[in-house]
Amino acid sequence: MNRGLRLLVAGMIGLGAASGVANAQELAHRFIEIVPDVYAAVGNGTIQTQDTVAVVINEHDVLVVDTNITPEATRRLVADIKTLTDKPIRYVVNTHWHYDHTDGNQIFGPEVQIIGHVNARKAIVDGVLAARLELALEELPPTIDALQSRVAAEQDPTRRAELEQQLAVRRAYGEQLKETVPTPPNMTVTDRLTIYSGGREIQIIHPGPGHSVGDLLVYLPAERVIMTGDFWEGDRTGALRFGFHDLWADNLEPLKDLDFEHVISGHGPPFTGKETIGYFQAFLRDLWEQTKALHDQGVPVADAATRVDLTKHQAHYANFRTVGTDERTIARIYQVLDER
Ligand SMILES: [Zn+2]
Ligand SMILES: [Zn+2]
Repeated sequence: MNRGLRLLVAGMIGLGAASGVANAQELAHRFIEIVPDVYAAVGNGTIQTQDTVAVVINEHDVLVVDTNITPEATRRLVADIKTLTDKPIRYVVNTHWHYDHTDGNQIFGPEVQIIGHVNARKAIVDGVLAARLELALEELPPTIDALQSRVAAEQDPTRRAELEQQLAVRRAYGEQLKETVPTPPNMTVTDRLTIYSGGREIQIIHPGPGHSVGDLLVYLPAERVIMTGDFWEGDRTGALRFGFHDLWADNLEPLKDLDFEHVISGHGPPFTGKETIGYFQAFLRDLWEQTKALHDQGVPVADAATRVDLTKHQAHYANFRTVGTDERTIARIYQVLDER
């Protein structure tokens, strides 16, 4: 497909998703072109996708950064990418092992290199995703029941229709989960790897421990684009109940030295600029220091979770308006401190 036609298609996809017309039923993703041949693929809400995926169309092949939360959502991703290009997907990079970035891995054949950090492969081989899957299948039915009650109680017809749509997506997700077979990367990276495909250079960089024990960044130096997974999500703190918060803050520092303008992170829309790296480092350090002090005083996790005060960061992270934070985040920091 030539560039003009491709842009037209991408624009139509965007319109379809925004207005909820028939187009959106056929496509599960909205593509946002970042630079020529580099796209962010954001779920349009018709199927549970969870994460934001990056699509890089090279001279002969395609590289995809992360898979979606289920095999079915990832099949839909592959089908949607065919509206952009006929070239084959040859590389998939998992930015980390979390299910919302890897649970579509199984749909790819052996001709596709699924690239992940050596620790991400080990975590999946050791069964972390299998355990999570079991838990998700247990925890999902009550959340579906709760959503159903909200639909029944909703008086506003517009809001009710939205909730009904969410309920349908959630129910379908419950079914789609069942075919998941956790599938590790078939190519591992320890420190870094560079792919040269056609005229494009793609650097895959392990920044050190952060959001997980095996995060990867995907960097296109010529295009000044970086894909950061959940290691850095711009104006969102993302999921904080994982990782190594003190090392995370330190390992964000070298990111500032990379020459980039555009960022596709693992969740939410793409963005530009790097000033929020500093805010996030300050946030993580504050979270870590306060929690460590409570840990060292022997304060129980549940109590500590009500006392950690991150409200001074609310100018950057609007969800920290009141004192206290997620107990699972505090439990994770206590676990890291206890294991050291
Ligand atoms: Zn994650
Ligand atoms: Zn994620």
